[in-house]
Amino acid sequence: MGDWKNICKDKDTRPKEQTYSSWKDLPPIPICFPAHASDTGSWRTNRPVTDYTKCTKCGFCFLYCPEGTIHEGEDGYYHIEYDYCKGCGVCANECPVKCISMILESDVQEEKMND
Ligand code: SF4
Ligand code: SF4
Repeated sequence: MGDWKNICKDKDTRPKEQTYSSWKDLPPIPICFPAHASDTGSWRTNRPVTDYTKCTKCGFCFLYCPEGTIHEGEDGYYHIEYDYCKGCGVCANECPVKCISMILESDVQEEKMND
């Protein structure tokens, strides 16, 4: 079971970085690797595209994005950092006015080629 229980007992003595030699060392809790640790945009199947004419700037997409790739811009609208978006669709699902559409990445690439 490794030392994870000892590590979790006291956050002041917990190491800043934890390494695991195999999956057997992993703690029995969910682990999330932030998207900024890798280029998730390179393998995304669907891309969220926002229709800003309908966006109410409520910020729900920002709150729900599990990767933290949505940021409020100076214009007050919420913008998606595509390099790190994995295309999960949570933002589109949670948007109250449904102004985020999930578009097939292959269609987006095809459009770019035709421009
Ligand atoms: S699809 Fe939406 S919720 Fe999912 S990672 Fe991309 S921006 Fe975030
Ligand atoms: S959830 Fe929808 S309406 Fe709200 S800020 Fe995001 S895109 Fe705009």
